[in-house]
Amino acid sequence: MNERLDFAPDDIVIPSGHFIDGQVQSTDDDMIEVVRPSDGRFLGRIPDGSQETVERAVASAWNAFKTSGWPVRAPRERGKVLRRWARLIEENVTELARLEAVGSTRPIAEATAGDIPTTADLIRYYGEYADKLEGTVTSTSADVTSLLVKEPYGVVAAIVAWNTPLVNAAVKIGAALAAGNALIVKPSELTPFSLLKLCQLATEAGVPPGLLGVVNGRGDTAGARLVRHPDVRKVSFTGSTATGARIMQDAAATGPKPVTLELGGKSPMIVFEDAPDIDRIVTMLARGVVHNAGQVCTCGSRLLVERSARDQVVSKLISAMSALTPGATWLGGTTLGPIINHRQLQRIETLISQSLGGGGRVIAGGTRIENEGGAFFLPTVLEAVDEGNAGFLNEFFGPITAVQTFSDVDEAVALAAHPTYGLAASVFTGNLKTAMHIARRIEAGSIRVNQHSRAPEFTAAAGGFKGSGFGKDWGRPGIEGYLREKTIWINHG
Ligand code: NAD
Repeated sequence: MNERLDFAPDDIVIPSGHFIDGQVQSTDDDMIEVVRPSDGRFLGRIPDGSQETVERAVASAWNAFKTSGWPVRAPRERGKVLRRWARLIEENVTELARLEAVGSTRPIAEATAGDIPTTADLIRYYGEYADKLEGTVTSTSADVTSLLVKEPYGVVAAIVAWNTPLVNAAVKIGAALAAGNALIVKPSELTPFSLLKLCQLATEAGVPPGLLGVVNGRGDTAGARLVRHPDVRKVSFTGSTATGARIMQDAAATGPKPVTLELGGKSPMIVFEDAPDIDRIVTMLARGVVHNAGQVCTCGSRLLVERSARDQVVSKLISAMSALTPGATWLGGTTLGPIINHRQLQRIETLISQSLGGGGRVIAGGTRIENEGGAFFLPTVLEAVDEGNAGFLNEFFGPITAVQTFSDVDEAVALAAHPTYGLAASVFTGNLKTAMHIARRIEAGSIRVNQHSRAPEFTAAAGGFKGSGFGKDWGRPGIEGYLREKTIWINHG
């Protein structure tokens, strides 16, 4: 299946450097070695952005913001450039998909059919949004006009996670540029390469040099330098809850400046006995657990099932999850990619041991898959006995779900509440009243009914509550987050 997508990982040309002034540039920064998650072999090197590099990138971005005319030109002109860029991404799908797959956990089939088209569509979507944002005229006496206009911030920084590298970056890039900002992105040091190629296409499409920059490097070096830079006006972050808290502190200490935080989750999938078409639903539950080997912020890492349906749902889920083909990301037939690295694999194993030590039980999976150099883990179903269990509490970021049962709506709502996270939840039922009751009562940023993954449309905003963050990416709120409101008061009496 899909063998025509197979490629040889050693044949891929790996770019290296930062992206400043509209081109990939090398510096004499310290270098970081990056490996391929599928086999642990050396992939390439990236520089660890020094203070001097960050200064250059920020100065270049401000220069582009002030001199290119980008923030003040007709928004539809910005939209045209972004749409041209989206077309170029589509024309380069093979190269981008291979770069993405070779250096990340994304199997080539999914990168080709999913990540790269989604990246193009996101840039296009926000390009089309550029001229659809309006301010307001507020209510005043007739001899005064008061306008609330929306303006870009200037230079914004985006710091993103490795799990879907290009899509994580594109949702912020499209929105920030369409809104008229300059943007500097720091991708994860684990998956830095595909973004450099994406940015080269931006220059080709007509994005003014400097307006979009990439500073590569580690989080506590390059990332922190960007957050602390006094000339960065806003920080938009996607990553773990612990790092989000750190970024808030840094942003407060050196600004203060606004932050948007898209953080971790422990999202429940809640299944009632009356859920329609259980076979179809189980396919969605399985995808909720194993998509990207569970390395998705909204992964269905908890399964809450009505007691009477538990055995049927769990056994069908296990058989749906066992139909996957683990393998390297450069093989077209791979449907279960690797865990990002061995450190994360060991963390998953530690959490499973802790769950078992606390009375949890492995119902399926629970072990690594032996593979040459790569870090792979079997799709796993854990029985988490209570809310104090490690399987209930922790974000594993692997293909693992922890099952608990409930007997009525109130118990389902109580179990769904997590002490830390509030990112997403899904509810499967044939009863609209039950669905809406639960949707209104769960403290999470996205609730899906009879579906677990997000809708293919980009119109639905995503963002968390509680320890899962605040602010939104995607949809209209996604672009609004890159605009600030200014009041203009005109006395013409
Ligand atoms: P992470 O927090 O370790 O790193 C994320 C990014 O922050 C990386 O680029 C990293 O280099 C950088 N970073 C680390 N320390 C920093 C610091 N002190 N200052 C500035 N930048 C710093 O997260 P990760 O392991 O890359 O990603 C996994 C996490 O991301 C999971 O918790 C997952 O749920 C979350 N995530 C959330 C969403 C969402 O939309 N809510 C989407 C994807 C991933």
